[in-house]
Amino acid sequence: MEDNIQKIKNSIRDIIDFPKKGIVFKDITTAIKDKEIFKIITDELYEKFKNKKIDYVVGIESRGFIFGAPLAYKLNCGFVPVRKPNKLPAEVISQEYELEYGTDKIEIHKDALKKGDRVLITDDLLATGGTAQAAVQLVSKIAEVEAVAFIIELTDLKGREKLKGGFETISLVKY
Ligand code: AMP
Repeated sequence: MEDNIQKIKNSIRDIIDFPKKGIVFKDITTAIKDKEIFKIITDELYEKFKNKKIDYVVGIESRGFIFGAPLAYKLNCGFVPVRKPNKLPAEVISQEYELEYGTDKIEIHKDALKKGDRVLITDDLLATGGTAQAAVQLVSKIAEVEAVAFIIELTDLKGREKLKGGFETISLVKY
């Protein structure tokens, strides 16, 4: 609902020059501490995916966990974390990706998903798309990506263009 989307937008706070100069950080802590907004966000995502036969929600560390876990509960499916290196205790598979300077890596438990599992990936925000693209590549090694969902999309950064394939990309709020 349009009204709900505006409510979400109004609840997100801009922090100028965080974590470094020139970046406008979209702070979602003000959204999730509001019980009405947190519920709206979860329900809006649920409505979009309730008929997609999702088996697992895969959340990207760390803010992807916040939205992914209640969504998995509502969708009646499991939750699987994608984490930064050396955090997961069992055997992992990894995916490297490019940052502005250098590279980074994300990991998932090797036995967390299996061929044919239908996966929804969640994160709080789509910027350049590098993180989400790496998560798609990682999950695709072992299962099927059905969709990637964000609360926020920074459209100028064209991250969506990196997320092409046989899956859907959705965001609730666009700037
Ligand atoms: P990217 O890989 O460029 O799409 O960046 C996405 C990741 O970085 C997400 O996990 C976001 O949480 C974080 N991020 C990037 N830009 C911002 C921003 N302006 N405000 C808040 N988080 C951001």
